Amino acid sequence: MTARIRGAVSRQESEHKSERIRRAQLQAAQAGKWLGGAPPFGWRVQADGSATLNRAEAREVRKASEAILAGASLGSIVADLNRRGVTTSTGRPWNYTSLRQVLERPRNAGLSMLRGEVVGKSTWPAIVSESTWRGVCAVLRDPSRKRSTSNRVRHLLAGIATCGAEGCGLPLKSASVTTSRPGTYRTVYRCPATGPGHVARDADALEAHVVGVLLGVLSKPENAPALAGEDAATSPEALRLEAVALRAQMGEAADMYAETKITGAQLAKINARLQERLDDAEAAMARTARGSALAWFAGRDPVKVWKSLSIDRKRDVVREVMTVRVLPSGRRGKVYDPDLVRIEPRGQQ
Ligand SMILES: [Zn+2]
Repeated sequence: MTARIRGAVSRQESEHKSERIRRAQLQAAQAGKWLGGAPPFGWRVQADGSATLNRAEAREVRKASEAILAGASLGSIVADLNRRGVTTSTGRPWNYTSLRQVLERPRNAGLSMLRGEVVGKSTWPAIVSESTWRGVCAVLRDPSRKRSTSNRVRHLLAGIATCGAEGCGLPLKSASVTTSRPGTYRTVYRCPATGPGHVARDADALEAHVVGVLLGVLSKPENAPALAGEDAATSPEALRLEAVALRAQMGEAADMYAETKITGAQLAKINARLQERLDDAEAAMARTARGSALAWFAGRDPVKVWKSLSIDRKRDVVREVMTVRVLPSGRRGKVYDPDLVRIEPRGQQ
């Protein structure tokens, strides 16, 4: 009986102890204190548990967050970090999982969390704004994003390039056609109105031509999109990121409502608040010149930026800058002729 009672007492004591530890952890988390472990990428942790920014690492987190909101793929950011020899806080090369974990940390926005729940403001300095962080989380959780990187094939100019046949002008569609070698296929863009005079053109050749013209234009200093001014908060790029982040939050709120995690009244309240801020951001964007897909090119190497963009964002850029009209070619099967494609600047409103 004594042994049993001793056992019960010791169990009681250890439960009590773990309860105390849990409570201490919660208090520490609520106070934004570091709970131990390897210092996270982006900060330096002091002996007293407070932290300061590791400037070089924090800049990488900020750049990667903005790139995600601008439509870059996780893969392109991982490749860029590894190419430049930037490693994780444990000295390893980056991969999808480690980058995603770093970008989704609430601490990036100066929020403190415990076991998956945001429990308060962190005492650590924030790396990005809360709306940027929330936008990044929503973009990374968006299931359509996964589709677009796997089985959904999208072509750069489908629905953008048009048929140059007399009186046609229909947007071209992509199609897979057999080649002279059995069992091999190539992609063409062709007019949905089939018949004599309507066009079809090799997709690879047409894309190479259009991208060549686009990057040639963007590479000239006189055409380079204007750099964001000193006032970073109202630069077109900052405003656009803010708007993207706000829209992503609205989408997230709608999902939570659909999953009955919040009520209709809560959804309306959240949306009203976000819409107000979105209206402000959009009004400011309209006032500043070029709050556009092109803003992302400002002050950067256009070839590198282009490579980092997702297919959807590339299509936005082409659509914003130019029109592509494919003229009928006399004979079929001849070599791609750039003179039979009219690339013109999109008319300014
Ligand atoms: Zn046509």
